[in-house]
Amino acid sequence: MTTDAIVGIGSNLCGPIEQVQNAIARLSRLASTEVLAQSSLYMSSPQGPQDQQDFCNAVVLIRTQLSAVELLFSLQAIEDEFGRVKTRHWGERIIDLDIIFFGQDKITQDTPHLVVPHPYALERDFVVIPVLEVTPNWVLPCGTHLAETVNEFDSHNLQKLASP
Ligand code: AMP
Repeated sequence: MTTDAIVGIGSNLCGPIEQVQNAIARLSRLASTEVLAQSSLYMSSPQGPQDQQDFCNAVVLIRTQLSAVELLFSLQAIEDEFGRVKTRHWGERIIDLDIIFFGQDKITQDTPHLVVPHPYALERDFVVIPVLEVTPNWVLPCGTHLAETVNEFDSHNLQKLASP
């Protein structure tokens, strides 16, 4: 069985653009998983503490045979490989990998350490806009099209980088 899922990628340390590109390359080598599409790279100002660099963000659409928990552990292992160190809440990071959507699954507190859709996914333009770029027809667990939820987005904070 395979599941189409969205992984969110973010970085604001040690060459954020290169870190995000490297993370996409690393995800394409993930076991039992295929990267179907990658979004453009976007720069945005930080949420939370403002005394940190801008973030580079992107998402990938993957098709995986992993379960959601197996995928979470794989993403955490990649974060460790990249040398991620836990800092303050919403603080600076070499790499952040999140499961944004896992098929149409809704995963709540019953599963330790995993909430899907990602709790802040729908509030973040740097998540929703790249997701719609790779999969314009994505359907949320509630049955609503993601595209229908974004009318009120003010994405002036988001700068799309030119393709390499
Ligand atoms: P962060 O600092 O954003 O990397 O958050 C890491 C923590 O969020 C870890 O303890 C994860 O277990 C937890 N978490 C909960 N839901 C998710 C999700 N959908 N994707 C990634 N991490 C998640």
